[in-house]
Amino acid sequence: MHNALMKKISVAERMGHFPVTLSVIFLSFTLANSARASETMPLGQFLSSIAPPPADEALDEIPDIGRKLLALRSYVRARSYLVERWSWSDEKIKDFQGSAAQQALLAEVAAVGAYFAQANPGYEIYANTKVRSLDTQIVKWNSNVSVGIAAVEIYSKWKEHFNTNEMNEGNPDPEKLRRWLSGFVSTKRANLAAPGLTLHGRALAIDFQIMRNGKIIAGANSKQIDPVWRAHGWDIKLKESMDAAGPLFEGPLTSPDEPWHFNYHPAAHPAQQKSVAGR
Ligand SMILES: [Zn+2]
Repeated sequence: MHNALMKKISVAERMGHFPVTLSVIFLSFTLANSARASETMPLGQFLSSIAPPPADEALDEIPDIGRKLLALRSYVRARSYLVERWSWSDEKIKDFQGSAAQQALLAEVAAVGAYFAQANPGYEIYANTKVRSLDTQIVKWNSNVSVGIAAVEIYSKWKEHFNTNEMNEGNPDPEKLRRWLSGFVSTKRANLAAPGLTLHGRALAIDFQIMRNGKIIAGANSKQIDPVWRAHGWDIKLKESMDAAGPLFEGPLTSPDEPWHFNYHPAAHPAQQKSVAGR
């Protein structure tokens, strides 16, 4: 019956006539099927299915349920700007290589480095200017320890909240889950942005590290913030070089606290100048 209906509909579509009654029947079929599907779908698949595209494909690559929930929370919250923020594809990253936009970025990074080296004899800046691809971000998300800890928390709270009622009959109502996720406050903060959402994925952020004799002495490492960055004043010295030689950089990031992370606002792309908080 269903197949026959589909055939009839596709014939009607091809002829350019789509009878209202058929579309109503078709719509109710679709709704009934998707409601049934969300009740019986494996949880991991269900979570991917309610993510705003293109984040659904990234979620498919995150097997752990807690890490998936944590990423989905970011995607639900970022829904209104998710597409414009989404990390570049490998192809786009390749286009960026050697472009005028990349040269402008590298020139400004070099100017900051030159100023810093002159102001702090014996020390240098190391800046990784490679655009972080979505694949790389997913690998990190799946293995990062702080993400793992936050993932355990969100999954256990999720089970507490949904197990008693909705879970007995299958997966929760997508809208209820979205609301719960977007209001969920983590006590264990992950020190990574969810895959796809970092500004490092669009050459709009750079991490600046401090080097001595070719060795990094203050890295992009949250454990070094107080004992190294603050204790030795590298946060202030880096910021001074930024102010003096990196007019298109803004930062450092304060939430989370990352004295090495600066957002980049390329003048050639006014659309990207909009200030979006984040990593
Ligand atoms: Zn960063």
